[in-house]
Amino acid sequence: MQNPLTRLLRRLLALSGIFLSFSCADLSKSSGLAPAPPPQDPRPLAEPLPDPPPEPEPPPSYATLAAAGDNLIHKEIYQSVLRDTVYHFAPLYAGIRPYIEAADIAFINQETPLAGESFGYSGYPRFNSPQELGAALADAGFDVINHANNHSMDMGEAGVLATRAYWDALPNIACLGIHQSSLARQEGQVIIEKNHITIGFLAYTYGTNGIPLPRDKPYLISLTNTAIMSQEIDALRKRCDFLVVSMHWGNEYQSSPDPAQERLAAFLAERQVDLVIGHHPHVLQGISLIPRPGGKTMLCFYSLGNCISAQTQDPTLLGGLAYVKIKKLPPREGGGVSIEDYGVIPIVTHYERNYTGFQAYPLHEYPAGLAARHGRKLRGGGFSKAYCEALAAQILGDRLIRHNPFLPGSAD
Ligand SMILES: [Zn+2]
Repeated sequence: MQNPLTRLLRRLLALSGIFLSFSCADLSKSSGLAPAPPPQDPRPLAEPLPDPPPEPEPPPSYATLAAAGDNLIHKEIYQSVLRDTVYHFAPLYAGIRPYIEAADIAFINQETPLAGESFGYSGYPRFNSPQELGAALADAGFDVINHANNHSMDMGEAGVLATRAYWDALPNIACLGIHQSSLARQEGQVIIEKNHITIGFLAYTYGTNGIPLPRDKPYLISLTNTAIMSQEIDALRKRCDFLVVSMHWGNEYQSSPDPAQERLAAFLAERQVDLVIGHHPHVLQGISLIPRPGGKTMLCFYSLGNCISAQTQDPTLLGGLAYVKIKKLPPREGGGVSIEDYGVIPIVTHYERNYTGFQAYPLHEYPAGLAARHGRKLRGGGFSKAYCEALAAQILGDRLIRHNPFLPGSAD
């Protein structure tokens, strides 16, 4: 028999069992054994997300090139810098050094051999300059040195090889135009990379002042020979973005190019050369843009005159430092290479009485007081700063530069 209280307790227990079984079922669901339905997005139709912003286009690359003309080291020059058996050439280039240093690449035509002391030092007509000159050029910031010129054979084959060996021993210097062997000439073509732009260099001279090359060594000096030039230019053209050819050519003391220079320039443009650096006349000649097949143009500095010399005629005291700014587009814009800007900073060779105090000055920085003391003027010449300015303006026109274009942020 169950009393009413016992029955009530049993019913309560039974009900609690049912409740507990439901609770367990609910617990099993909420523990994640089965995936929950995705929550409903309260928005009716979401707008599509915008595309991520494109990566910024990399900017173009730029490289600047400086080029100086004939570095013509007469006996008067090296004698003037001799102190206690050491030749101190650095002051010669102190005035142009801020330009050379700031350029990405700086070229000079080293007109005289640096064969070493054992050959004996000499001036005109068969030159050999102290090797301390080379160290001063490198220290000033020059890094491409041309020896394809009419004085390269002044000390004979041995002098050529000694000069080449001297430069090869200096770090970060490229020597043009004189070669140890046929293979070295072929495999040693100069390519310099700056800011992702590859710049190739070749150099040629019209001759070697009648001193013949050894019969079995025609490779020794890069002579102007269009068949060989075509091969060498075509080979290097494929390997670089921008191709520079140094040309020792033209007539001395003529302020405009002769027909032979113009024919050679047309030949170089035909072969897709980008830039010609001309020298040898010892005076400034003009600048030309020459059309190339395919629509681009070749920039030609016909003659940059002297960088420094002990010459005495007024026009030979005015040379120029070429400025070229090269631009390369990023790969997504085709990677094309072009000349962004160019011009010439006129340079004066200063020297004083009795061939002392030699120095190359940018014309716009040349103190008028110093010009009044120029050795040329003291001998009764017509030299003056105003003369130089008029001559530079006449030859260079609107490409005459009166500031340091190699410094970042420089402006006309
Ligand atoms: Zn020359």
